[in-house]
Amino acid sequence: MSSVSDISSRIAAIRSTLPQGVELVAVSKFHPLESILEAAASGQRLFGESRVQELERKVASMAASESTEELRWHFIGHLQTNKVRQLLRLRPAMIESVDSLRLLHIIDREALAAGIVQPVLMQVHVAREETKTGFSPDELLAFFRSRGFEELRATHICGVMGMASNTDDEARVEADFRAIRSCFDEILRIAPDLRSFSTVSMGMSGDYPLAIDCGANLVRVGTAIFGDRQY
Ligand SMILES: *Cc1c(COP(=O)(O)O)cnc(C)c1O
Repeated sequence: MSSVSDISSRIAAIRSTLPQGVELVAVSKFHPLESILEAAASGQRLFGESRVQELERKVASMAASESTEELRWHFIGHLQTNKVRQLLRLRPAMIESVDSLRLLHIIDREALAAGIVQPVLMQVHVAREETKTGFSPDELLAFFRSRGFEELRATHICGVMGMASNTDDEARVEADFRAIRSCFDEILRIAPDLRSFSTVSMGMSGDYPLAIDCGANLVRVGTAIFGDRQY
């Protein structure tokens, strides 16, 4: 676990490098609430979590704590369909990791039942690893071309999220980020009437400056803020 001053100085350092219009998600998964509160004390309000139960625990401890900070949460992990209802109760500001149409439709149904409108990002898969989930650019473009989003009643698709290949080959990483960004641009061209489709979430601790150069406007940074995770 990182000390208090480490967390706030790292956040300040990262924020100072972010161009206007680029937002920072502080990825707090596997880190304790104290670390989140330290980040909050230095002005960070937006956090990313990848497991429903962990988020639930943190939201509950936050409510029970003396802190009056209003934190916003992005869900960034693989979401099982049987956890959707539980997640929506926690009112995430964004579900960044919609990786199938089945999941999208279940989120829509549950959001409608809960009387809310849920903002989401579509996860696009461009990286070489087989293990990473998400839509291929072609699948995603086909969905928007067929105007599948018009069936949604309680879900706002706000953009795309993606990850680059996990490699030291910077040219590969850059090509992946450019592929994610062009998928976003192509969707905008196909469906220019999509309201609030404006977010390109890409870039993590090791590669967020490059992601920004390639057109990210939301970056998800964990380790560079909170230190190594204890799994
Ligand atoms: C964990 C995680 C991050 C943060 O990764 P770091 O390398 O710690 O910055 C970003 N995005 C997703 C989807 C993650 O699961």
